[in-house]
Amino acid sequence: TITIGVLALQGDVREHRAALEEAGASTVAVRRPSELEAVDGLVLPGGESTTIDKLLRIFSLRDLLRERIAAGLPVYGSCAGMILLADRVLGGTSDQQTLGGLDVTVRRNAFGRQVDSFEADLSFDGLAEPVHAVFIRAPWIEEAGEGVEVLARIPSGYPAPVAGKIVAVRQGSLVATSFHPEITGDHRVHELFVRVVREAGPTSVKE
Ligand code: GLN
Repeated sequence: TITIGVLALQGDVREHRAALEEAGASTVAVRRPSELEAVDGLVLPGGESTTIDKLLRIFSLRDLLRERIAAGLPVYGSCAGMILLADRVLGGTSDQQTLGGLDVTVRRNAFGRQVDSFEADLSFDGLAEPVHAVFIRAPWIEEAGEGVEVLARIPSGYPAPVAGKIVAVRQGSLVATSFHPEITGDHRVHELFVRVVREAGPTSVKE
């Protein structure tokens, strides 16, 4: 069976685990290298990307996680998790590094004061009904490479420059959303990720 880890250094780990389990996966909290080695997929929750970046080093997870991503580990990053997956960051701190893997440029804290945190109904590629998306000091994707599938954008009714901004993507086994589907009770984004992990098959280092 497939086991999906939730990085448990910061953020709403419990909500992600509950959503993944509702979507049919077994889950585990990941804080140690041995736990990271044993998962077939990983969720990077929201939080503060600069802090998670530092904690990944302190917990000796950063290099291993980069290796596993390069080897095809499916990862879903929400909000700060999206920033961590991005190859390029705008608006980061001067020493901020990401894990990388997603060929995108994200802008951190992109929405600015007036719409700092907000909710929107988004049409989402592959899903029949719109997704109610909760944005909390969220990033957006400013540029996406050719291999990146855009799954959702901010609707056209929003003022410029917010309208049309990319807020959900997939590239191979990597999925990222600017928003937090784990807190809405709608598990369709987690279901999508569980399917991605199942398609990739068991990838844990220790069989
Ligand atoms: N602003 C946070 C960051 O830069 C992300 C916010 C979130 O994850 N809700 O990492």
